[in-house]
Amino acid sequence: MVWPSSRVSLLREASATAANSVSIVAPIYNEAANLPVLWERLSAVLKTLGRDWEVIFVDDGSSDASLRILRELTEREPRVKVVELARNFGQHSAILAGFRQSRGEVVVTLDADLQNPPEEIPRLLEAIDAGNDVVGGWRANRQDRAFRRLASRWHNRVTSLIVGVPMHDYGCMLRAYRRHIVDTVVQCDEKAAFIPALAASFAKRVAEIPVAHDQRIAGESKYNFLGLAKLSLNLITGFSLAPVQFVSLLGILIALIDTAFAGFLLLHRLLYGPQQEGALWTLFAVLFFFVGFLFLALGLIGEYVGRIYQEVRHRPTYVVRTVHESDADRAGRG
Ligand code: UDP
Ligand code: MG
Repeated sequence: MVWPSSRVSLLREASATAANSVSIVAPIYNEAANLPVLWERLSAVLKTLGRDWEVIFVDDGSSDASLRILRELTEREPRVKVVELARNFGQHSAILAGFRQSRGEVVVTLDADLQNPPEEIPRLLEAIDAGNDVVGGWRANRQDRAFRRLASRWHNRVTSLIVGVPMHDYGCMLRAYRRHIVDTVVQCDEKAAFIPALAASFAKRVAEIPVAHDQRIAGESKYNFLGLAKLSLNLITGFSLAPVQFVSLLGILIALIDTAFAGFLLLHRLLYGPQQEGALWTLFAVLFFFVGFLFLALGLIGEYVGRIYQEVRHRPTYVVRTVHESDADRAGRG
């Protein structure tokens, strides 16, 4: 069959945009003062992409004018969608909600406070086009307080270790993900997800590119020390049983030290005969042994609870992307 030429180019265009489409997901919590500038800069960048795009703003229970501003935007802009959450659920839950609504082949997340310049989006997309499943921004010149930067360095080391994918900057939310990664993350439906780590754990090819980082334009950071600590703890317990295993190891260590101590007591008695405080020390040795045993028992129980936790979390142990087979096989089954 011969297609009329105009028809062919139309079809080709349609499939090109479908494979190229990009969704931007931005969580919003009381960012009214930043939204107009954000939209201005973001939309300017998106219009130059030459791809099909949509923007999903997730209002994470804002109490300022954010939601009103966003809703006004949806009336003017058909490509903008606003997901209104019932209350403040936190940045990562908000992004998860945005992921669920997104339809693009590539999903880019960014903060709404313009610390992540939207002008970097084309470079992220380039790296995705080069064949990466996940592309992370790396804030080489980070504009945060010294304490935040130091905490972040440790955070990245620990995260790299437990996720098994080394990255310089897990905290940077200017990131791009391919559709199959987004779908897997959504499917996990985790209660305390740390999205960059979860996504990296499902990716085959991960890249990191240096991106600019600015100071917040208006408003202030939504994270205090406690919030950051909570996020880190979530991450560690979400990815490993290391804390309980540490308790078991501690128990074994205490029992070992105690055995050495008991040996020393015995030797002392044999060499120098019974001492006045001998009974007391023996009691100590016995006590220590039981303390070590208790730690070990606690760790073992923790290990079992941890395994149950891993099971109920329903995180996929593997993800099949495609099953490749010859046409003959497929026909035989069909
Ligand atoms: N955010 C959110 N819910 C929250 C906290 C933050 O949606 O409970 C959003 C916030 O509006 C911003 C992004 O997450 O778009 C990053 O927050 P923030 O700039 O406060 O974090 P920081 O840059 O200090 O790490
Ligand atoms: Mg910020």
